[in-house]
Amino acid sequence: MTTGQDNIFSDAIRRLDGAATFAEIDGEALEKLSHPKSILQVSIPVRMDDGSLRVFQGYRVRYDDTRGPTKGGIRFHPHVNLSEVKALAFWMTCKCAVVGIPFGGGKGGVIVDPKKLSRMELERLSRGFIEQVADFIGPETDIPAPDVYTNAMIMGWMMDEYSKICRQRTPAVITGKPIPLGGSLGRDDATGRGAYYCIKELEKLKDWQPANVHVAVQGFGNAGQHVARLLHADGYRIVAISDSRGGIFRAEGLDVPRAIQLKNQGRAVGAVYSGRSVCECPVCGDDDCNCSRDEAGTGDVITNAQLLELDVDVLIPAALENQITADNAGRTKAPVVVEVANGPTTSGADEILAKLDTLVVPDILANAGGVTVSYFEWAQNRAGYYWTQDEVQDRLKQIMAREFNAIYELMTNHGINMRTAAYVQALNRIGEAIESQGTSRYFLNGADST
Ligand code: GLU
Repeated sequence: MTTGQDNIFSDAIRRLDGAATFAEIDGEALEKLSHPKSILQVSIPVRMDDGSLRVFQGYRVRYDDTRGPTKGGIRFHPHVNLSEVKALAFWMTCKCAVVGIPFGGGKGGVIVDPKKLSRMELERLSRGFIEQVADFIGPETDIPAPDVYTNAMIMGWMMDEYSKICRQRTPAVITGKPIPLGGSLGRDDATGRGAYYCIKELEKLKDWQPANVHVAVQGFGNAGQHVARLLHADGYRIVAISDSRGGIFRAEGLDVPRAIQLKNQGRAVGAVYSGRSVCECPVCGDDDCNCSRDEAGTGDVITNAQLLELDVDVLIPAALENQITADNAGRTKAPVVVEVANGPTTSGADEILAKLDTLVVPDILANAGGVTVSYFEWAQNRAGYYWTQDEVQDRLKQIMAREFNAIYELMTNHGINMRTAAYVQALNRIGEAIESQGTSRYFLNGADST
C-alpha cells in the first residue's frame, strides 16, 4: 500500500474546494458532501478448495444518497483499502450528478488477488460478500455493479445470492449482470463507449482527422479494450496499449482487434481472468524475446511508465488510480488526457498539467458511460421491459454528448479547467438537492426556500 493510496480520499475531497468557488452551493451542503454517509466493514469466511478456511476483508461505503439510491461498483483487488473505497464512492456521487441520473454514490471492495482463486473459490467469495452486506444494499438503497476485476458472471452470482436471502428474485439490486439474468444490452462496453462519445465531441470541436490522431491506452481490461476498439474502428491510430505486466508500442498503429484476441486467448470459455498479457510475444509467448515482433505487428515492449510519457495526441489512462502524479506529470506530452480509470491523476499532477495546458477530460465525465447504462439496466429491471441495443446506445450517446458540451461550456465561460467544470456541474446538482431539504438560511433566517 503506497502513501498515495492512504491519502487518496483526502486528495479526492480537495477537488471540492476549487470547484465550490464557481458552484451555486451552500456551505452546509459542501460540509455534508465532505463525509461518507455510512461505512460497512465485513469479514468474509471462505472455504478454500483444499479444505482450509480463509477470511477476507471487505468494505461497502454509501457516500451520499440525496439524489437517489447509492450506486457504484465492487472491486476485487489486493490493494483495496478504506481510503480508496471512500474516494471511489465520492467520485461515484459526483459522476451520477454529472450525467444527471437519479443516483447517489457508493462503492465496495474486497482485499483479494482474485487471479489466485479457483472459480469455485471466487463464487464462494462473491456470495459470501453479499451475505455480509445484504442488509446494507437493495434496489432502493444501494445498488452495486462491476468494477476492477469483477465482471458480469460475478454480478450474476451476487444477484442470485441476494435473491435467495430475500426469497424474492431481485434483479434490480445489482447491475452489469449477464443478459439472460436481467442484464442490459450495451452494458458490457458502456464505459469505453461513453469515453468514445466524449472523444467524438472533441473531434468535432478540434476538427480532428482520426488517421492523424495518435492514441496511447494504459490498461487493457474491459474499459480500455472497448475504447481502443471503437477508436481503432473509426480510423484513430492506437500506437500503444498496456496491461498490468507492461505494454507495446508501434508508431504505425497497432492492430487492436488482434491485440484483443491475443489478450483474451488464454481465457478458456467461461473463465473470469485472462492469463495473457499484451506484451507477451505472439510468436514465442515471452515478454522479453528476440523474435521479430514488428513483423508480427505487435510492436516493441514498453513499460507502463513509458506509455504515460509517449509523444501522442491523446493519452487514455484506463487502469487504476494514481498513475499521473506530481512526479511524472511534467514528463507527459499528450495535449489531451481522457480519464477512463477512476482517479488516475492526483491533485498535485492537476496543477502541473494545467501549466502544460493539457486538456484533461475528467474521470467523473469520461467514464460515466458505465453507470449511465447501469441506470438503464436498473430502470429496465424495475419496469420488466427491455430495450434494444440501439435504444441503449442512442440514449447513452445523447447523455454523454449533452453533458460533455455543458461542461466544456462551463470551462470556457469560467476560464477553469475541465475537471473543475465537471465538479461545478456536479456540485450545482447535488447542492440543489441538499438545499431542497433546507439549510440554515431556511431554518434560522426564515428565507423563502424557493
Ligand atoms: N464501476 C463503474 C464505475 O466506476 C460502474 C459503476 C456502476 O455501474 O454502478 O463507474
